[in-house]
Amino acid sequence: MYKITRICQNGEPLPLTTDDGHLRIVFIGVGSAFAKRHRQSNILAIQGDRHVLIDCGTQGPLGLTDIGLSVLKVRCYLPTHSHADHIGGMEEVALMNRYTPNIPKPKMIILRDYQDLLWSKSLSGGAEYCEANQGRSLQLTDFFDILRPKALEVSGRKCWGYRHGNMEIMIMRTRHFPDSAASVDESQWCCGVSINRRAWISGDTMFDPEYPRRFSQEAELMFHDCQLFYGGVHASYQELMTLPKEIRAKMYLYHYGDNWDQRDTWVRKSDPFAGDPVQDGFLGWADQQVAYDFY
Ligand SMILES: [Zn+2]
Repeated sequence: MYKITRICQNGEPLPLTTDDGHLRIVFIGVGSAFAKRHRQSNILAIQGDRHVLIDCGTQGPLGLTDIGLSVLKVRCYLPTHSHADHIGGMEEVALMNRYTPNIPKPKMIILRDYQDLLWSKSLSGGAEYCEANQGRSLQLTDFFDILRPKALEVSGRKCWGYRHGNMEIMIMRTRHFPDSAASVDESQWCCGVSINRRAWISGDTMFDPEYPRRFSQEAELMFHDCQLFYGGVHASYQELMTLPKEIRAKMYLYHYGDNWDQRDTWVRKSDPFAGDPVQDGFLGWADQQVAYDFY
């Protein structure tokens, strides 16, 4: 069972541990890439004495400040893909941790192939030559201790697993961009995440009903990215409505635009849904800065 718990009620920072060892998931944001009313969709998973921040976008460091944390407090990161709402805060993570005295390197859970891309296409621009005058350029491994997931076979799809303390993290490739890509092999690197097989987080993805069908068999809660219009590189509300009702009944929607509560801006009279996720059979819009606690 799961329970939604209020956090930081008296302004105290969110603890990065759970005393009784249960799994806790906190969205530091639930908004889309360009959301201004919410932070971007970056997610903390905490269990016992371990934690991991799934993505740290341009607003990620601010999202951490909202709950009394910082990039110096969070010790482990899992970037899902290279859009700025997912990795735009990683330079701050890298530089703050390297140049604050007496702070050990943070950890990063990442596959070999994506590690090279993340560094060469994104982070190296701001970080590689910080110490060039001392005779060497830096690498991602100068900023992060790398934790390497292992390949898994799950329904013929590309998945990897990493055991983080008692947290069983599964990473699955998603088809996110470009929108013309017919398979994950033609797509840029992007992944979703399952934790302890109880919580499934789609990550950024176009509508790919095989995944919600597959993971709904074991997941207690599913979090799916949701775009309020059809087309482009995310699953639309309209497409998610085509999932069977028993799957929608386990699903919160996240990564939504700032007009989520102005239904007249995105729901047409002819649409076969209300635009209120609870009325439409989902669990609702995911909330930021609350805890989803799994007991
Ligand atoms: Zn994206």
